[in-house]
Amino acid sequence: LLALQGAEVRFKGHTALDTVDLEVAEHEIVCVLGPSGSGKSTLLRVVAGLQDLDAGRVLLDGRDQRGVPAHRRGVGLMFQDHQLFPQRDVGGNVAFGLRMHGAAKAEQAARVAELLELVGLPGAGRRAVGSLSGGEQQRVALARALAPRPRLLMLDEPLGQLDRSLRERLVVELRELFAELGTTVLAVTHDQGEAFALADRVVVMRDGRIAQVGAPLDVWQRPADAFVARFLGFDN
Ligand code: ATP
Ligand code: MG
Repeated sequence: LLALQGAEVRFKGHTALDTVDLEVAEHEIVCVLGPSGSGKSTLLRVVAGLQDLDAGRVLLDGRDQRGVPAHRRGVGLMFQDHQLFPQRDVGGNVAFGLRMHGAAKAEQAARVAELLELVGLPGAGRRAVGSLSGGEQQRVALARALAPRPRLLMLDEPLGQLDRSLRERLVVELRELFAELGTTVLAVTHDQGEAFALADRVVVMRDGRIAQVGAPLDVWQRPADAFVARFLGFDN
């Protein structure tokens, strides 16, 4: 479904993505781990079409995405800082992508209710975004990203601000949901537990490069180098 080939992004001499090669198969869930500043968000933005490459290619279904605008790529992106529309209520935010895809009104309302239920905010459709806590806003952003059923969903720290019990519940539900919808997922997380629970494969990044890719258990049991081992907490 997705392939990055020699993908490179430079900011004023600083290389945020350095010759990244990565393939993500249909229905696969891939989690990206790595220290702050290692290029995780940049990787997602490049695939989403929000960041141009300085070298290399992004392919979706084998087609080069150079010049294809974000809204034509059929990918969903949930930002790290969620960026809800403050002037719309919760339901309006979740329905945003649905309206763009022309779903019928009644169907749309049912879908919004279903998504809010899923993220643990049943009946919150009429609430003002400003009245929600940070974690609640994050869940609304997740519902909004899921709404148009993108083939490829990219999540940047989707559960970052949530408490542990809610995260654990959502990880299980998301895994089921993605399987059911056949959604392919590329997700950034700081939480190893989350990555290992959710992912078919994990990608560990370091200074814009991929330090290791593999099944969670393989990476866990056989870190490729000292950096990965240290990052995973096996430093002693
Ligand atoms: P975090 O875990 O803190 O979110 P990250 O792995 O997502 O980090 P990126 O946001 O991808 O990191 O950034 C990678 C590097 O590129 C960082 O050093 C960052 O400062 C730099 N960078 C990202 N975006 C820009 C930009 N628009 N202009 C200049 N530098 C940038
Ligand atoms: Mg980031």
